[in-house]
Amino acid sequence: MSCPICTAETERAYRPFCSRRCADVDLAKWMNGSYACASTDPEDAEKALEELEKTDIGKQF
Ligand SMILES: [Zn+2]
Repeated sequence: MSCPICTAETERAYRPFCSRRCADVDLAKWMNGSYACASTDPEDAEKALEELEKTDIGKQF
């Protein structure tokens, strides 16, 4: 598996990214609405957050 941001090899602690930096970059992209769904609908945002929590990011802690 490779980092979706820079395609470097994924680091276990930061999966699916290679580093905290790439995770932050991805999150920033996300906040800017440049991710798959650029909807401003709050319900969509909530769904997206749920999806995010299903990923490793929500399970890190
Ligand atoms: Zn990366």
